[in-house]
Amino acid sequence: MSVPNTNAPAIEVRNLHKSFGSNEVLKGIDFHVDQGEVVCVIGPSGSGKSTLLRCVNRLEEPTSGTVLVEGVDITHPDTDLDKVRTRIGMVFQQFNLFPHLNVLRNLTLAQRRAKKRGQEEASKVALKNLAKVGLEDRATAFPAQLSGGQQQRVAIARALSMDPDMMLFDEPTSALDPELVGDVLAVMRQLAEEGMTMMVVTHEMGFAREVGDRVVFMDGGVVVEQGRPEDVLGNPQHERTRAFLSKVL
Ligand code: ADP
Ligand code: MG
Repeated sequence: MSVPNTNAPAIEVRNLHKSFGSNEVLKGIDFHVDQGEVVCVIGPSGSGKSTLLRCVNRLEEPTSGTVLVEGVDITHPDTDLDKVRTRIGMVFQQFNLFPHLNVLRNLTLAQRRAKKRGQEEASKVALKNLAKVGLEDRATAFPAQLSGGQQQRVAIARALSMDPDMMLFDEPTSALDPELVGDVLAVMRQLAEEGMTMMVVTHEMGFAREVGDRVVFMDGGVVVEQGRPEDVLGNPQHERTRAFLSKVL
């Protein structure tokens, strides 16, 4: 099946294994994100969180297992990966803006290439999304003229400008000075409230608790436990979860 199914989970991962050489970093992951759901993935450094996220749009090639995006098996040879990827917005720790392009051009470039929009339409979409992240007045600024928090909000606006069905965040605030984290989390919270489907790898436990519909705790390449934020964070069932939380809370 190659047509997106609006009744299927946004993301469904079954028995996913991923090895780098002899290093097995995902050891049979079952994971899903329902449409409209906000799932926060937490866990120690090196536990495989980024690898899992990157397997969802095949930035990493799974070693075995199944990854379905809106019901479409993205590992199937007939799947149009470019098409699937336009439905998945990605935001990374590093903002990856083009330094030589102003904010507006950063937002219109991918739209023109992947969505085949003309400059006028792409600019309109870009300005709408800049307004959404509170940066409509910085359209002509260059990335170096912005704070890290502003650059990350531009990166979010850029992803939104592709009209994605879901957004994947990989530690979006980890590279920011503490005083800049709040503005980025506020934008993410607003997106969640608008019903965006979100997978968020984060160390921000307050965000996970308040915004997450579900929290997934990973350690050593497996999902150790998952559930409602108040349960996983407030009353963890596994010793490994307790040990992790005692370090970060
Ligand atoms: P996390 O995001 O939870 O910190 P990662 O998914 O980044 O964990 O990494 C899990 C493990 O996989 C680590 O041991 C890391 O060194 C290894 N790893 C990740 N990416 C690669 C890669 N491209 N090549 C080799 N090893 C990798
Ligand atoms: Mg990571």
